[in-house]
Amino acid sequence: MISIDIEKKLKAYRGEQILKISAQFDKSSITKIYGPSGAGKSTFLRIIAGLVEPEHGKISVDDMVWLDTLSKISLSPQKRKVGLVFQNYALFPNMTVRQHLEYVSDDTQWINRLLFIGKLETFTSHKPEYLSGGQQQRLAILRAMAIKPKLMLMDEPFSALDPKMKSELIPGLKSIWDELGTTVLIVSHNPQELVGLTATEMEINPI
Ligand code: ADP
Repeated sequence: MISIDIEKKLKAYRGEQILKISAQFDKSSITKIYGPSGAGKSTFLRIIAGLVEPEHGKISVDDMVWLDTLSKISLSPQKRKVGLVFQNYALFPNMTVRQHLEYVSDDTQWINRLLFIGKLETFTSHKPEYLSGGQQQRLAILRAMAIKPKLMLMDEPFSALDPKMKSELIPGLKSIWDELGTTVLIVSHNPQELVGLTATEMEINPI
């Protein structure tokens, strides 16, 4: 169970807005996060990952406290070990597909399984510039999964995939999440995005 209670001032050109969220996410649950552009969806994921600090708040995962602004506790992103998929993929230009996964895992069997699920088995020696947008996006997803995360945070993760690829990839990801008991939060503006996934919905609106 993940418990989140945070307050963060957003610096928007329209003036200041406050992102205030209280939410709980069950183990193994999938939540789709939606809301208007600029509402703070990406910022919410960054706060959970430990990349952005809220002014006030508490985040606990099972019986571990990741963040407590009152007692000045804030675990580093490395210690939180979440699987992150950002909109810009953040791939390493000089690493091949396989090296991206080996960078975070030394389990060859696991890496091969991920490559199969992401349909990148025949591209293992390619660097990102020689991959299509969809292949780059799948690599970003596989790299996030390589650490066997208990929590996956994904920002528009399937935006570059065509419907066929999406409908083939998602069941593979889902089977791994079920196996690992991963809790998944997916930011998406597209109602068709999560084809075949049963997800709880959560709306984010700043005040
Ligand atoms: P969304 O993902 O819902 O489109 P974002 O989280 O990207 O929204 O951004 C929401 C607003 O928060 C934007 O106006 C942005 O300028 C502001 N913002 C982004 N990061 C920070 C930060 N670290 N501190 C304060 N404000 C931020």
